[in-house]
Amino acid sequence: MIHIKSPEEIALIRESALIVSKTLGMLAGEVKPGVTTLHLDKLAEAFIRDHGAEPGFLGLYDFPNTLCMSPNAQVVHGIPNDTPLKEGDIISIDCGAKKNGFYGDHAYTFEVGEVSDEVKKLLRITKESLYEGVRQFRAGNRVGDVGYAIQQYCEKEGYGVVRELVGHGLGAKMHEDPKMPNYGKRGRGKKFSEGMVVAIEPMINMGTQRIRQLRDGWTILTADGKPSAHFEHDVAIVDGKPELLSTFAYIYEALGTRSEEENEFRKEALVL
Ligand code: MG
Ligand code: MG
Repeated sequence: MIHIKSPEEIALIRESALIVSKTLGMLAGEVKPGVTTLHLDKLAEAFIRDHGAEPGFLGLYDFPNTLCMSPNAQVVHGIPNDTPLKEGDIISIDCGAKKNGFYGDHAYTFEVGEVSDEVKKLLRITKESLYEGVRQFRAGNRVGDVGYAIQQYCEKEGYGVVRELVGHGLGAKMHEDPKMPNYGKRGRGKKFSEGMVVAIEPMINMGTQRIRQLRDGWTILTADGKPSAHFEHDVAIVDGKPELLSTFAYIYEALGTRSEEENEFRKEALVL
């Protein structure tokens, strides 16, 4: 069942989403060679609690940590550990926070030091595909329109679109209906309407779309060992159109870069 959110509920989801956005921004300044993912996890947990929220993933389905940390060939759901990041790695950091009974949940794939041009391209295309998907999340469109847009954008580059893991509705539960696959057919699936809130999260592999899972019961990896990228935003339908509840602006501020990419999905300018 899809829970339609009131404007007040959307405001609360935005508040939780922005705590995640700020957490990712804080982490952006800490991701560097030699740092362990477990260290970053502890920083994130303290930061989220300092902002009056609870880590959204810790204990959810018995996940042991605050962050899902998935380097290189790991797609998603990697568990923080004491292996240091190294120059040329990429690391997907997925973070959740819960405040006032509502969740925020989004993710960004960071470069560790200098990465290869082919990996940079994978990150760029995956992030662009996220916005291709967000653009289709509007009243009257359907789940398949979002998936189709993401799939086409990535497959034309020869990338593999993961099938087994998908985006989702978001609200009082971390994972609500509808499921939001990153593949699909135009005009198919559940219809979008005012007040829906979802997390859209393309998981895109440089090589095969096929995946495998580690014996830890969590970590998802590419079957061919090639890198995988993951970007996620929280989005509501407001006045029929997609409105971003999360932002990467804190990340860009920390990295000293700028981007106009979110402007078309925001009615009012974001004040950092
Ligand atoms: Mg997530
Ligand atoms: Mg998610």
